[in-house]
Amino acid sequence: MAKKEFKAESKRLLDLMINSIYTHHEIFLRELISNASDALDKLYYRSLTENDGMSREDFYIRLTPDKEAGTLTISDNGCGMTAEELENNLGTIAKSGSLAFKQENESKEDIDIIGQFGVGFYSAFMVADHVKVVSKPYGSDEAWVWESDGADGYTLEKGEKKSFGTDIILSIKPDTEDEKFSEYLETYRLTQLVKKYSDYIRYPIRMTVESERVKEGTGTDDKPAEYETFTEDRTLNSMVPIWKKNKSEVTDEDYNHFYQEKFFDYAPPARIIHSSTEGASTYNALLFIPSRTPYDFYSKSYEKGLQLYASGVLIMDKCADLLPDYFSFVKGLVDSEDLSLNISREMLQHDRQLKLIASRLEKKIKSELKSMLLNDREKYEAFFKNFGLQLKYGVYSDYGAHKDLLQDLLLFYSSSEKKMSTLEEYVGRMKEGQKYIYYACGETTDRIDRLPQTELLKDKGYEILYLTDDVDEFALKMMMKFDDKEFKNVSDKDLGLETEEESAESKKLNEDNSELLRFMKEALGEKVTAVRLSERLKSHPVCLSADGGMSLEMEKVLNAMPGAMPDGQKAQAQRVLEINPSHPIFARLQKLFTENTEAVKEYAGLLYDQALLIEGLPVEDPVAFSNAICKLMAE
Ligand code: ADP
Ligand code: MG
Repeated sequence: MAKKEFKAESKRLLDLMINSIYTHHEIFLRELISNASDALDKLYYRSLTENDGMSREDFYIRLTPDKEAGTLTISDNGCGMTAEELENNLGTIAKSGSLAFKQENESKEDIDIIGQFGVGFYSAFMVADHVKVVSKPYGSDEAWVWESDGADGYTLEKGEKKSFGTDIILSIKPDTEDEKFSEYLETYRLTQLVKKYSDYIRYPIRMTVESERVKEGTGTDDKPAEYETFTEDRTLNSMVPIWKKNKSEVTDEDYNHFYQEKFFDYAPPARIIHSSTEGASTYNALLFIPSRTPYDFYSKSYEKGLQLYASGVLIMDKCADLLPDYFSFVKGLVDSEDLSLNISREMLQHDRQLKLIASRLEKKIKSELKSMLLNDREKYEAFFKNFGLQLKYGVYSDYGAHKDLLQDLLLFYSSSEKKMSTLEEYVGRMKEGQKYIYYACGETTDRIDRLPQTELLKDKGYEILYLTDDVDEFALKMMMKFDDKEFKNVSDKDLGLETEEESAESKKLNEDNSELLRFMKEALGEKVTAVRLSERLKSHPVCLSADGGMSLEMEKVLNAMPGAMPDGQKAQAQRVLEINPSHPIFARLQKLFTENTEAVKEYAGLLYDQALLIEGLPVEDPVAFSNAICKLMAE
């Protein structure tokens, strides 16, 4: 029997495919099972049109590993292939009989055939050095045998087969140092692979499995357990995917169980999002928001992504393109009929269909979070504790491109409510004539609450948001405004509180004391850009504030972040030492200035150090600070 060569381009393609399209050899099983499933579908549709009373229950796929012969056989009782079909579909790479079938039957509903790319079959050569296909078309009494060792070509001859369908017989490659091909003859491994990739194939995938059990009549009080091996025929796949079921058929318990098993979480999810769409793209999505933070969530090793299925067959375990970074905590899967099995990662990135799905999911996740915020506040706050940081990073990243989507999902601690508040709620509570949304930064809400800068505002009945995460102020700066109200750091120069009269007064006070203030500034040198009298302080003598865009908090964060500033520069806020003119210390300074300017210099240094301590910043020379205090105490 003469060997036929593969079509010229096929040879090259075969090589390319085996070496580059598939990264994991194990997917050969998924490909062959999907082909079998397609063959069953085709026969089923044909029987529908010809009305010959076949039912889906009659169909199956069977795996038969034979360790002695070193073969793995994948059988189906599907449509089978004629000699011509064997030649056309298997002899030509990138020719898909399934795609043609789909196109011919376009008008029929519910055609859910997987194949359409025409390369899956060749993945068999990744694990087999010889492939034999024995096939008998339904309704024919002729069987044909197609055989090939891979790139050289193939033979095709008449053969024997009892009933219709196809057997794919793989002679598994010998083990190498790098790869144990013999694993594909082990029932545990095959079971595992079916579970992983083909669990939702809608026909039963069967295999005879040997296992052990306790012998009957043993294992009682007076007889110790004896074991016996037995064989049983098992269906390896669960067939109907939970996400294809109608929502009303699935209980919360089912969802929880599915989530915990599939995504290895010991806690049930905080929220379940089950959605299906028809139209421009048809897909089912089943998403979960975890109720706790995965231990590695805020580390580099955490990989975001959703499982991606094409018609119930897993094609990617973590498809990152389906989730934006700010929703990276979402777990789940998408099943689409519009994707092909053999698509590679690179191709997926540019897939229009995938982009469309991703953008719809993004909106869906947003609206689910919003509804959680509105209808189940307690749960939402727990969620925000876990993943709020990610949302705030999302506002800040990409130059604020996602702020509109995310800003109404944010929560910050409110000084007046003493609990978490949305920006919208804050704005709703703003006083008449209030220009700004005030915020203050610090390590903890308690510490912020004691900051001198917050005293006056609170006293006048203004609400302040307390920001305790590093990213917070950066996120607000990126947003600039919310609902047309600008954000204002309580340490900013102008808080918009003073009447014109008051600011004229304050200006005059500063001018009247300009000599003293200038003297103190000079005593402090480069440490500050100015020393100023301030109306914002009530009982405290001093505080630090910053002129310009960079706050003290931002300076701290930027300097702690490697690479945040160009060329190893240090971030430097323009520090201003503010003095409370109504504090007795000021009267003392004025007096000293006329008597002993050396003492004013010392006081300036001490006041500056105190302001640093209040801000939670380190004093530059703690020993000098301590000595200066002791000196004062001893006077
Ligand atoms: P695809 O599945 O994307 O069409 P494959 O390379 O996996 O491409 O398969 C090529 C073609 O071979 C299929 O389209 C189908 O027509 C045919 N084929 C493969 N396996 C079987 C089978 N078990 N029964 C019937 N036809 C098959
Ligand atoms: Mg295929």
